[in-house]
Amino acid sequence: DEASKHEYTYPYVDNSDFDLGEDTKGAVIKTQPVKFKPRRKEDGERSRCVYCRDMFNHEENKRGQCQDAPDRVKTCIHRVSCMWCADTMLYHCMSDPEGDYTDPCSCDTSDEMFCLRWMALIALSFIAPCMCCYLPLRACYHCGVMCRCCGGKHKAAG
Ligand SMILES: [Zn+2]
Repeated sequence: DEASKHEYTYPYVDNSDFDLGEDTKGAVIKTQPVKFKPRRKEDGERSRCVYCRDMFNHEENKRGQCQDAPDRVKTCIHRVSCMWCADTMLYHCMSDPEGDYTDPCSCDTSDEMFCLRWMALIALSFIAPCMCCYLPLRACYHCGVMCRCCGGKHKAAG
């Protein structure tokens, strides 16, 4: 949300420049109250989110707004469907040196591990059949996020 951030910073910088000027009778002074106009009420209070580092509006901070915020429903689906098994497997077998790995169910065919990953998932689902519940549960979760019934909210720093 860079654009709206800049909206607030630029007028302020302009004013501090004018304050250093010597012309106290000039039109600059007359325009100052206008320039220092308080934030419009409908903008609400804005803060930076600790999870996704984005600026967010407190009044618009509904469920499903923050992709990076921890969410109990998501964690619960993960546990119930034994997806943590798949994550553990991916972490140990297919992660890069930094420990990052693709979403187990990603359909990104450009991923060189695509076939291997899905074969491993299918093999794992024989050991842990509850993994088959993950996709339908995740679909429900996404619907929930769309309806703002579940999903993570932004959290203000500090
Ligand atoms: Zn956030």
